[in-house]
Amino acid sequence: MPVKIPRVPVVAVLAAVAAAAALLTGPSPLRTPASAGMVRMPAAVPATQSPAPATPRASAPASAPPVTARPGIGPELPGATPVGSVPPVVDHGPRTGNKVALTFDADMTGAMRRQLRSGAVRSYANLKIIDLLEREGVPATFFLTGMWVEQYPALTRRLAANPRFELANHTYGHLAFTPDCYGLPRVPEREMTADVARTFDLVAGYGGRQTRYFRFPGLCHDRNALDALAPLGLTVVDGDVVSGDPFAKSWRPVVRAALDGVRPGSVIILHVTEANAPMTDEALPHILAGLAERGLEPAPLSEVLGQG
Ligand SMILES: [Zn+2]
Repeated sequence: MPVKIPRVPVVAVLAAVAAAAALLTGPSPLRTPASAGMVRMPAAVPATQSPAPATPRASAPASAPPVTARPGIGPELPGATPVGSVPPVVDHGPRTGNKVALTFDADMTGAMRRQLRSGAVRSYANLKIIDLLEREGVPATFFLTGMWVEQYPALTRRLAANPRFELANHTYGHLAFTPDCYGLPRVPEREMTADVARTFDLVAGYGGRQTRYFRFPGLCHDRNALDALAPLGLTVVDGDVVSGDPFAKSWRPVVRAALDGVRPGSVIILHVTEANAPMTDEALPHILAGLAERGLEPAPLSEVLGQG
């Protein structure tokens, strides 16, 4: 989406995360980088203490590995944060090196699905983008809505099968998590946690490079929304380069927006939704060429954030 919205100050979020993490893991669990907006989490923090089994087996090893709260939500996944802590919000990675992240949002709403079913829209999945990334061996990270995954299971399998692609979470049906977010219908507050948890579960079924990265629709979030996601042990990823590709009429402004402010560590926001972002595939070769001219190299989001 083209406009950045105000959010809870990163410093406040960091403080809250550090406080919650300290309760769970002891002192200094969080390496706080010098660069504002970039957060690094510990590589391995037990998500929760598992209850002792009622009838422990005498032969059980004394040093069994920590058990996570739910299968597939291991603290080893990129972006995993201590369960119960307010999620950190990340815009970009360290401003060192030459790596940048190409991130593609796969939006799908109830209204979009009706468009597909009625035949008014042919596709919200831009195969030209995926073909190009595969042909050129370009790493990318896909923020998938649950409804998009349900609409395009074969394509989701194809994304998961590519070792250069990471999978992340963009809610189930692209509902707004704040009262005023570009006119998107709003998810009731009591359903926020389940909406995002359900999407992680859906995406997890496809395997591949899973993460605990999450992006709000329209990047709209407030303290209530962040609090609702605390049980899920995730990292919120906004981005520092907004390409503005939704409903673009020409590829040139998209290329300009993607390259204008790009720097080492940048997280570039694009869309793979074809009918709603019809110029992105035409812009992408120019964006890749422009990055190369600047000595910048696409990498999976986890590597750009220093968590890979
Ligand atoms: Zn979106």
